[in-house]
Amino acid sequence: MDTITAPAPEAASAPAIPFAVPASRWDESVAATLSPPQLLLYRSNLLGSDLTVTNFGGGNTSAKLEEVDPLTGETVEVLWVKGSGGDIGSMKLDGFATLYQHKLLGLEAHYAGPEDDDKMVGYLPHCTFNLNARAASIDTPLHSLLPFAHVDHVHPDAIIALAASSGGEAATQEIWGGRIGWLPWKRPGYTLGVMLRDYVAANPEVEGVMLAGHGIICWADSARACYEHSVGLIADAANYLNAKLAQKPAFGGAAVPVSADRAAIAAGLMPRLRALMTGARRKLGHFSDDAEALEFVNSAQFQRLADLGTSCPDHFLRTKIAPLTLDPARLGDDAYLAEKVAAYRDLYAAYYQRCKRSNSPAMRDPNPVVVLVPGVGRITFAADKTTARLAGEFYGNAINVMRGAEAIGDYIALNEQEAFDIEYWLLEEAKLQRMPAPRPLVGRIALVTGGAGGIGAATAARLMADGACVLLADRDAAAVEEVRAGFARQFGRDAVRAAVCDVTDEAQVADAFAFAAREFGGLDILVANAGIASSAPIEETTIELWNRNYDVLAQGYFLTSRAAWPLLRGMKEQGGSSVVFIGSKNGVAAATNASAYASAKAAANHLARCLALEGAPHGIRVNVVNPDAVIKGSRIWDGDWRKERAGAHGIDSGRELEEHYRQRSMLKRDVLPSDIAEAVYFLAGDQSAKSTGNMINVDAGNAQAFTR
Ligand SMILES: [Zn+2]
Repeated sequence: MDTITAPAPEAASAPAIPFAVPASRWDESVAATLSPPQLLLYRSNLLGSDLTVTNFGGGNTSAKLEEVDPLTGETVEVLWVKGSGGDIGSMKLDGFATLYQHKLLGLEAHYAGPEDDDKMVGYLPHCTFNLNARAASIDTPLHSLLPFAHVDHVHPDAIIALAASSGGEAATQEIWGGRIGWLPWKRPGYTLGVMLRDYVAANPEVEGVMLAGHGIICWADSARACYEHSVGLIADAANYLNAKLAQKPAFGGAAVPVSADRAAIAAGLMPRLRALMTGARRKLGHFSDDAEALEFVNSAQFQRLADLGTSCPDHFLRTKIAPLTLDPARLGDDAYLAEKVAAYRDLYAAYYQRCKRSNSPAMRDPNPVVVLVPGVGRITFAADKTTARLAGEFYGNAINVMRGAEAIGDYIALNEQEAFDIEYWLLEEAKLQRMPAPRPLVGRIALVTGGAGGIGAATAARLMADGACVLLADRDAAAVEEVRAGFARQFGRDAVRAAVCDVTDEAQVADAFAFAAREFGGLDILVANAGIASSAPIEETTIELWNRNYDVLAQGYFLTSRAAWPLLRGMKEQGGSSVVFIGSKNGVAAATNASAYASAKAAANHLARCLALEGAPHGIRVNVVNPDAVIKGSRIWDGDWRKERAGAHGIDSGRELEEHYRQRSMLKRDVLPSDIAEAVYFLAGDQSAKSTGNMINVDAGNAQAFTR
């Protein structure tokens, strides 16, 4: 697993990855139809949806527009500015805060100096125009205090690379002459707005200003001119840096070869790291071995730069101040991993102690977010999959910044006290406190076999509805992909993955669990559901039929449980893990003409009890849900089984079967996949934390199946 392949001969001199050079995507035929606020939105979406322009969620845009005051009927100047939350790439008109510009300017009467920054945020809602509920962001003063109709503020990698380099100010002068100014680092807030306004007043020739360690702000007289100005400045920076990067390999060249087994190494490593991240909610992982990640982690300058930490506030708020780095030669050593994660937590606690102020919020989760492994790539952990993925993407942005910054000088990371003051900013803490409690299964990873079928898909949906991430495993490739695609639309693309897996195939089972480990970071819940059904009198039960039932229903449950075990075992410290078998009424109650099926189901039920006993010391609970007659949406009821059971019950038509089962039940009710899913949900989550070795019948009542 630790095998590292020989380096490609040209690796050490491979050219640096260049910055993307954006071009204007403005379409005047679209723009001509838009109102002034819509033009602002159009420009914002164009900027934000182009990842060559800005990072996810990065930046804000504004326009000062004339509006009719609903109270007085007078025409007033209103600042439309991207509000708090959301991102400019996907925002809608309701994402803008609208504020009276004359009131915003009047706020300066309340400002005496930088110590008033937090207080000034509290005044912003008093300037709201037209009862707009969208909260104004802390960047609002950057826009209101500048006397320009259209203002863009973005954080593209090529720009931050200049802003975070010892050579940045000289490069700014070289690229743009005096057209673009330079302000030293100042954290976002009212004071930065005042500094910016005063700078522009003293330097009236500038068309934009670089904000050191942060990004750029620029302006123009029209929406189109402002957009094209932003794109042009980014292209200028990218072209300048690309010319420098073409002269030598990035980060001192490659020092470590790329491992051909990096995906397998990540799958082996991630669950073990996840298990070590104790003292907080369970985490989801995200692995990337994209070109940017590999160029960086394999480079000669990797360790020095990684230790410096990230620069732009947008980056480090997502990635923490610095990553955890691991020695690829020692990944197999559990004690080494435990020591490294513990040392990271100690470093983080020391940073908190050094930088905290008398009124700082309590220390947050000290576990690492970004883990870098030479030869392998970049792994990120966060409370949910999307946050983990975005943290990885933000670290990718940070890598780009370091590459560019080092090409023109020395990369400069943000001073740790400044980083701390942003990370533990009181107003940010207030926002965190207002966040609703996470759904109960956020942070949990489930693997559902037979995930494309009725009960499997309903179970996956139930788990995802409460925040779990799910890997659907099914032997039907087309069906499982269709179910996955539907769930991706319903629950988001980060929540669901699919793997083709025949539970009777040991290698396919191993691959599915490795896939879950690499895609999500580990496993908390196994739902063993993949099943078949057959019906035959004993004298007509062939050895083939007998074996098929036992291969899928008994051995399949064994193989999936065994593969899940090492992943589940690691979660003991976080509260344990859960295995749920989908059994059958026929695992308890004898069935006519279905001895192979019913006895294999009984074997699985007893396997569950044995595993409950064996799993308890490791915090693994094992329980069974026994459905009966779940006909709607069930794939095992397609075709022959339906006809066979109809025949066994002396019913002519398969269609009368549902009525037959309903009437046979004690409660006279249909049993649906969603009913089974609800029982699985109960057994999967903490509400059943004290239950193991149990069976829940979900069969609308069947006296024969009463457990005793
Ligand atoms: Zn910014």
